[in-house]
Amino acid sequence: MAQREELDDERLLDGMPRLGLGTWENTDAGTCAESVRQALEMGYRHIDTAQAYDNEEHVGDGIADADVDREDVFLATKIWTSNLAHEDVIHTAKESLDRLGVEYVDLLYVHWPADEYDPEDTLPAFDQLYDDGLIENVGVSNFEPRHLDEAQDVLDAPLFANQVEMHPMLPQDELVEYGRDNDVNIVAYSPLARGEVFDVPEIQEVAEKHDASAAQVSLAWLLQKDGVAAIPKASSEDHIRDNWGALDLELDDEDVAKIDGIDRREREVDPGFAPWN
Ligand code: NAP
Repeated sequence: MAQREELDDERLLDGMPRLGLGTWENTDAGTCAESVRQALEMGYRHIDTAQAYDNEEHVGDGIADADVDREDVFLATKIWTSNLAHEDVIHTAKESLDRLGVEYVDLLYVHWPADEYDPEDTLPAFDQLYDDGLIENVGVSNFEPRHLDEAQDVLDAPLFANQVEMHPMLPQDELVEYGRDNDVNIVAYSPLARGEVFDVPEIQEVAEKHDASAAQVSLAWLLQKDGVAAIPKASSEDHIRDNWGALDLELDDEDVAKIDGIDRREREVDPGFAPWN
């Protein structure tokens, strides 16, 4: 029992399961609901969606269909950039809850610091949702250290997480360090670099050594870092299961050094309105 609890703890980051399921571009109603259901019944307990993914309803259907209690699921969604004015945050967050078919979400993110984002106007709305019990945690996404400093100054609620692109070709050392220093968890999105990690020789070599998949290696490399969770998107049962196997893959120092040594740098999600552009 003690061992089981230890294992469970290792898989959680401040109550957030460290391996979750991403759902961007999983928009077909049947496929999306089925992948969420399969993931939950396989053991996943963290599901990531967003207003902009146009699938909150299907994600909600998958949660309702699964033989898992809603209270046991860590559900995250994000407010799109055009909805970041105070009243729109409140109003569209409630619409998201309706589409998801839930009374609260475990984490609500500001999707990008862009468009209608204005910390003094936007973030008090997140505080209000938090105080009203409609959201359990406040998160941000695609924030740089300067935005994180500003958000922490304005928010009353703790800043729980910053969701950013992160994988072996974009290690995000500065943001990981910021997160550790300020108790802001990192949620790694596009943790497979949208498929690009599969072609990296160093990842292939480590995968071969452990008789694992390249996806598992990329995920295990992320999950071995303090303060980091990862949300690979997978829509087929095989991929969902393969990624879940990353929790059982332990990389040794030599493997980690090899992956840390990859000098190819790539960013897969890079819209013109991103704060780094
Ligand atoms: P990703 O997770 O890096 O890669 C997804 C791709 O890899 C899909 O084509 C998927 O195929 C494939 N795949 C998954 N597991 C596989 C496996 N074991 N073997 C082979 N192929 C596999 O990309 P992502 O969707 O960009 O990122 C993940 C999640 O992060 C998103 O879904 C979303 O929830 C979140 N995200 C957030 C932001 C943000 O701005 N906050 C931006 C991007 C992404 P199948 O679908 O066919 O299984």
